[in-house]
Amino acid sequence: VFTPATVAAAPEDPLFGLMKAYREDPSDKKVDLGIGAYRDNNAKPWILPVVKKADDAIHNDPSLNHEYLSIGGLADFTSAAQKLIVGADSPAISEKRICSLQTISGTGAVHLGGLFLSKFHPAQPTPTIYLSNPTWANHHQIFTNVGLTLANYPYFSTKTKGLDFDGMLGALRAAPLGSIVLLHACAHNPTGVDPSQEQWKQIAELMRERHQFPFFDTAYQGFASGDLTRDAWAIRYFVEQGFELCVAQSFAKNFGLYGERTGAFHFVSAPGADASTASQHIASQLAILQRSEISNPPAYGARIASRVLNDPVLFAEWEEDLRTMSGRIQEMRRGVRERLEKRGTPGTWDHITTQIGMFSFTGLSETQVKILRDKWHVYMTKNGRISMAGLNTHNLDYFVEAIDSVVR
Ligand code: PLP
Repeated sequence: VFTPATVAAAPEDPLFGLMKAYREDPSDKKVDLGIGAYRDNNAKPWILPVVKKADDAIHNDPSLNHEYLSIGGLADFTSAAQKLIVGADSPAISEKRICSLQTISGTGAVHLGGLFLSKFHPAQPTPTIYLSNPTWANHHQIFTNVGLTLANYPYFSTKTKGLDFDGMLGALRAAPLGSIVLLHACAHNPTGVDPSQEQWKQIAELMRERHQFPFFDTAYQGFASGDLTRDAWAIRYFVEQGFELCVAQSFAKNFGLYGERTGAFHFVSAPGADASTASQHIASQLAILQRSEISNPPAYGARIASRVLNDPVLFAEWEEDLRTMSGRIQEMRRGVRERLEKRGTPGTWDHITTQIGMFSFTGLSETQVKILRDKWHVYMTKNGRISMAGLNTHNLDYFVEAIDSVVR
């Protein structure tokens, strides 16, 4: 029987706990910098104009119905998602050595990839997956649940508030041959710190030497820099270098399709005579796993994304929307840094503008984070991560005043 003794109460998800505390705070000054979802300059969720357009077209399309999609999802969507991430002219596509399935957003893609690797990775019974320290908290839960062994590589330097590149390379060099390495393709969550292209090249070189398997998680393509190609650079470089790898791709942030759970999982086989056969086998096994977990993925978000991705006019409008979101975030970064530097707030603040994407690791301590919440009604995760999208021209001065007061 299931009793309180056999089923202990699980701790509340820290992020969702933070959201609840924010909602219940009656202060009219409160600032939400917790959840990683885009907000406009009035702190409201933003429906991308191009998504609204695609959505309207779907509502008026008499050819659509509510039938199941296939196990692998909407084919027009997965093929466009594939081109978006590896590039339309990638040899992985022309050589038929990439297979793609539609998933329950990025989370589902990470899970499907983890499950596949736990079953088929040659280092049985338990291959080790190396995660950056820190990483998106859900990585730990997902990979533990599918039975992979977890290990960490250093990532963030508290001294420079940038990449601990030596620490990262040292850990990968020491990792067993053939380990899986989870890499954030761009706009690392939670730090906002990415390797430079030069550093990515060195990471690739070392991983090749160590026969390691790159598992890319990409949740911010186009959202980070405003440029879809630039944000896919690392993945395309690894594919070019002939790696066998996989990619978990989310369209939550770059389409603003958070609740529609729109994503894809891609597996790229290394070039070689049997690569396309291997790819077919892999696709068939992924389909079996998918069938047992979700049967077939949800249609709605994939239809929206597919319309945009496959129509050159809508695609160009989407790129404009991406520039709107990333541009506003970059403006907020500059705004925070300028104001702190102007005030002479103790510390260095250049990391606010060198970090990229939705999040910034401020370097604030847990005590400072608590004072910000209790006294200033400013909500962020206790590791000092802020979601830049929660800042806007109305609360920027107040936020900077609060930061200034807690670090003095
Ligand atoms: N991976 C990373 C690094 C993320 O930051 C996120 C979202 O915050 C995801 C994956 C997956 O998000 P979703 O399942 O909403 O697509």
